Amino acid sequence: MDCIFCQIVAGKIPSDILYQDDEVVAFPDINPAAPTHLLIVPRKHIPSVAHLSKEQLPLIGHMVEVANQLAKERGVAESGYRLVTNSGEDSGQIVPHLHIHLLGGHRLSDKMG
Ligand code: 5GP
Ligand code: ZN
Repeated sequence: MDCIFCQIVAGKIPSDILYQDDEVVAFPDINPAAPTHLLIVPRKHIPSVAHLSKEQLPLIGHMVEVANQLAKERGVAESGYRLVTNSGEDSGQIVPHLHIHLLGGHRLSDKMG
């Protein structure tokens, strides 16, 4: 098991787990790009959104639900936030385990690509 997020999910790498349930785990990004930068990941190893089967699509909805709840708890729901999920090389994805970035707490870049 050399996937870093699988190891965090399994508790093999200590991390500040902010939320967890049967399906997903959330923790802070180790190299934050904004004052609030959290990662929401499924427990199951799925490489990216490109690899979600039709049956797995509700999972991404649940991940968004958790992200929205964390945005409220972290006090960025009112000021605004961005949810990002990368897929593949051109996106800059470096960890091949599906995750949503929750970014907020300051004015985010206008650049989307
Ligand atoms: P990606 O570019 O794959 O969408 O983003 C992966 C993110 O995971 C990066 O923002 C990076 O800082 C974060 N990351 C990489 N390794 C670790 C780690 O061991 N722990 C945590 N908490 N975040 C990590
Ligand atoms: Zn994994």
